[in-house]
Amino acid sequence: MMTINGRLFIMKKKMHQTITAAVLSVCALAAAVFVSRFPEPEKKARPGLAQLWENVSLSEICAGENRKGKEAMQQPEKEFYEMPLNDKIKARITGVSYPGEKEGILIGYDDLAYVHVLHYDFQMEVKEGELICNRKIAQDLVEIFLELYRQKYPIEKIRLVDEYGADDERSMEDNNTSCFNYRVIFGTDRLSNHSYGKAIDINPLYNPYIFSDADGRTVVQPENGTAYADRSADFAHKITHEDLCYRLFTEHGFTWGGDWEGTKDYQHFEKES
Ligand SMILES: [Zn+2]
Repeated sequence: MMTINGRLFIMKKKMHQTITAAVLSVCALAAAVFVSRFPEPEKKARPGLAQLWENVSLSEICAGENRKGKEAMQQPEKEFYEMPLNDKIKARITGVSYPGEKEGILIGYDDLAYVHVLHYDFQMEVKEGELICNRKIAQDLVEIFLELYRQKYPIEKIRLVDEYGADDERSMEDNNTSCFNYRVIFGTDRLSNHSYGKAIDINPLYNPYIFSDADGRTVVQPENGTAYADRSADFAHKITHEDLCYRLFTEHGFTWGGDWEGTKDYQHFEKES
């Protein structure tokens, strides 16, 4: 037979269990609400970003909005690197800027390198840039673009020409800075130095390619860059002998298309190596 104290003990125990159960249910409910309000973030696969940044958006990196982004902004030089073409990069360029080894291309994947940089665009916002070049000039590009970044040299876009279907005219019209593209020199059947990844075009819209065609007519490429063919005019983003790009590229052993006789290619720097 149970004593009064014994009954009181059981009642207290039951009350305790009820309160504990109630508290646990409230906690479980709160946790469920929390989880549903903050679902697992969607993984953002960004082709072209290095493995380290695979799940971090460019805006996060550039705005320093998360830990990795803050690190990138504190140590931006880590964003300037070169590496061999991996399978993802090969897949991006094959059949576009890279016709394929089976089609008799004179340069192998192993001769090329992927270069990753940051740059200031025309709004002076930090943007990510990607280049494919000959591996012999990859380190030059890393050093040159790091210095351009440090000195806040504005470059509008640095995207692989593959994003323009390897169409050089479209890339230039969009003022895209690019390097490797397996193609002939316009109007000829000779391979351009871009085919070997040894030439780079900087802010091409403002620094057009000017030459005479077979009929002696002056041609400006890109066509929408005609306004910038007059090099005595004063306008922004014009590459001259006083320009930082000119200084850095020539210091690294490149020649400038603006110094060519006859034909002028103000966007173009190349290095024989
Ligand atoms: Zn060029």
